[in-house]
Amino acid sequence: MRAGIFHAPGNVSVETVPDPTIEQPTDAIVRVRRATVCGSDLWSYRGVTKWEDGWRTGHEFIGVVEEAGPGVRDLECGDEVVAPFSYCDNTCEFCRAGVQTSCVHAGFWGGNHDDGGQGEFVRVPMADGTLVRVPEPLAGDLSKLAALALITDVVPTGHHAAVRAGVRPGVTAVVVGDGAVGLCAVLGARRLGAERVIAVGHHAGRLEIARDFGADAIVDARDDEAVVARVHEETSGGAQCVLEAVGTQPSMNLAINLARPGGTVGFVGVPHTVGAIDLRQLFSNNVSLAGGVAPARAYIPLLLDELAAGGHDATPVLDMTVPLDRLGDGFVAMDGRTAIKVLLEVSD
Ligand SMILES: [Zn+2]
Repeated sequence: MRAGIFHAPGNVSVETVPDPTIEQPTDAIVRVRRATVCGSDLWSYRGVTKWEDGWRTGHEFIGVVEEAGPGVRDLECGDEVVAPFSYCDNTCEFCRAGVQTSCVHAGFWGGNHDDGGQGEFVRVPMADGTLVRVPEPLAGDLSKLAALALITDVVPTGHHAAVRAGVRPGVTAVVVGDGAVGLCAVLGARRLGAERVIAVGHHAGRLEIARDFGADAIVDARDDEAVVARVHEETSGGAQCVLEAVGTQPSMNLAINLARPGGTVGFVGVPHTVGAIDLRQLFSNNVSLAGGVAPARAYIPLLLDELAAGGHDATPVLDMTVPLDRLGDGFVAMDGRTAIKVLLEVSD
């Protein structure tokens, strides 16, 4: 099969590798139909996290069950499935508590020992626990594949920001970040009933999508002090709920500065470059910091039901589509910020 391979920072290619096979009775082999490039793929691509030559790329994919091991009970060949960005048994105490990313058997796609999502086939461990079957009327609808691909990671991650920030009916929510996750966080804040959503970013085109996704106000500024002043003015002293979707020191500082006393920051940007948090500031203002890696598996069923019922899909964040073999072009575009998010057409 063809699959994405990391070689060195700035160097990702698609090559022929051995087809995966069933290794454990609970494995399934999924034929990938659509995959996506994630902002978090850029951390290794840019050399911020150390990856080694030969590791498989990608963790966002949807497809069809091609083969199921003898221990797979809930899925059969031909089932259309969505995979969360990590695998899990979905039965252990942490899975039952809704933090499947902390499953005692959890693992992440790609790297040195698992298939990546950016390939033609993926061996899925613990298939019954990991995969979610696509419900009617989405199953069989080719026009929904792009929307389904976003339910593997960015839509549940944006939703998690809203959950962790405590968004509820009546609150004002501020979203920091206008990448794909930030835009999906706007959808998350709306889904949970925020009365008002303010989106903060600095790409006019992306902020327009935020408005389409339900943001009432957008703050387009590169000057963080100006953003704080503007948001404090709009919210009479800060927002109850701040959704942080970037993961850098400046964005985390900004998010904390945008929270009103007693408010909560829900952070879902992978904090690769966050060095220190001013605990004294949190203490003084009773601001809570909550968040973490999204348990996508916990949210996928409800997000599929919403999409099946005609809810707002997130496909406007996909502004570039290429076949799998042009994966490298997708990385270049996202690294250069000429694309928000890249869809890979892998098979029909
Ligand atoms: Zn588990």
